[in-house]
Amino acid sequence: MVKYVSTRGNAPVLDFDDVLLAGLARDGGLYLPETWPRFSADEIRALRGLPYAELATRVMAPFVAGCLTEAELGDLVTASYAGFDHPAVAPLRQIGPDQWVMELFHGPTLAFKDYALQLVGRLFDHVLSAKGRRVTIVGATSGDTGSAAIEACRDRDAVDVVILHPKGRVSEVQRRQMTTVLAGNVRNLAVEGTFDDCQDLVKALFNDHAFRDEVSLSAVNSINWARVMAQIAYYFAAGVALGAPDVPLAFAVPTGNFGNVFAGYAARRMGLPVERLVVGSNRNDILTRFFETGVMTAEGVVPTLSPSMDIQVSSNFERLLWEYLDRDGRAVDALLAEFRRTGRMAAPQGAWSAMGELFEGHRFDDDATLELMRRMRQATGELLDPHSAVGVGAGLKARLARPAPLVALATAHPAKFPDAVERATGHRPLLPPHLADLLERPERVEVVANDTASLKDYVRRFAGRTRTTATGTMATGKPA
Ligand SMILES: *Cc1c(COP(=O)(O)O)cnc(C)c1O
Repeated sequence: MVKYVSTRGNAPVLDFDDVLLAGLARDGGLYLPETWPRFSADEIRALRGLPYAELATRVMAPFVAGCLTEAELGDLVTASYAGFDHPAVAPLRQIGPDQWVMELFHGPTLAFKDYALQLVGRLFDHVLSAKGRRVTIVGATSGDTGSAAIEACRDRDAVDVVILHPKGRVSEVQRRQMTTVLAGNVRNLAVEGTFDDCQDLVKALFNDHAFRDEVSLSAVNSINWARVMAQIAYYFAAGVALGAPDVPLAFAVPTGNFGNVFAGYAARRMGLPVERLVVGSNRNDILTRFFETGVMTAEGVVPTLSPSMDIQVSSNFERLLWEYLDRDGRAVDALLAEFRRTGRMAAPQGAWSAMGELFEGHRFDDDATLELMRRMRQATGELLDPHSAVGVGAGLKARLARPAPLVALATAHPAKFPDAVERATGHRPLLPPHLADLLERPERVEVVANDTASLKDYVRRFAGRTRTTATGTMATGKPA
């Protein structure tokens, strides 16, 4: 049974279910498995040809053992991907000799975040019901995470969800994907402020420990281990489809918070022969600069055509640092403290050069991104959204030591960013049928001031409403 430890080495060792609910560790660190489960070559070969849900269940089972049986996990995984609009769930398309795109946009909100959040919502419900508990999830979004979280949590019994977005600063499609969900346990707040203001409000709520306990605050942001875990599955799916474990592989990943590409690293630790992980950045290229120089320096965020990667500090990078610093939590803590204080941190030479044997980074500004989108449409017919184009472009620049199939992860459906796609290709992509009437659906959203006290009042009232119901339900003997 896998136990989980914090990257800062100063928090309790937890089981899977507590890691799921905790999100962040109490010492400020991120949870990781104490030991990586390993799959033998034969076990990897045995994954070939399995339906996606079955493959994903086998890959994830060791991480949840002791908390969920493989059959329980299998039911949740099957339900999670049943609504995806492609039978392969994560299909591969060839774009060149030994070059592939893995389409990770066949879930309900058209971004790869559905692959993890659909399962995480169900895991929350399962674990909370078993414990007779409820939680209130509060999160801030600049676009894709909010809708994926809402879609994953709507109508779940044990979860209320409140999502903050900056008023007038998300695209209409992104806003409507959130505000047209009228489920009773979902609330959307448009904050008079920026995305950073939204994040600061959420942080303020989490830092008030009394309030946190009072409303059972929880988070499903990308530092939650269960999100990384669910993403490992599609690396295995791509790998065995292209000949692993008998063939080495490379992946190119458009990267923001480093959660997606870290799942590729995890797959390698579990035995998948991943030879290269290529990180794609837009102009917010802190990671690419780090892999080039070994020094991480924070700069201001600039808006780009790929807004889900407009990120200053990649929170999941802490997990990689911990692994390459030989799991020394105190060293991780010291480096990150230096970074917070000075905006700069230099990795030890040995750790940085070891990372360089597996990772490389490439950056693309908006013009280069549009050019890639145009070229790919011409050469292969594939319409790429701007994020996916950055991934494909990074893959094309990969420095591979020996030939290996290269898989670029396409993280959003082109119709999520129709203006950029039309600008690049002259072709305006249509929303898929289940969202075709999105622009006509009624919306529910409340505008709130950028003010912590009134947000607390709001969350308290909202959580209190359901908590009364929950108590009533429990009193009648039905499961909470
Ligand atoms: C979130 C997101 C990313 C970045 O993924 P990380 O795990 O944060 O690195 C890339 N593309 C799209 C479309 C996203 O929504």
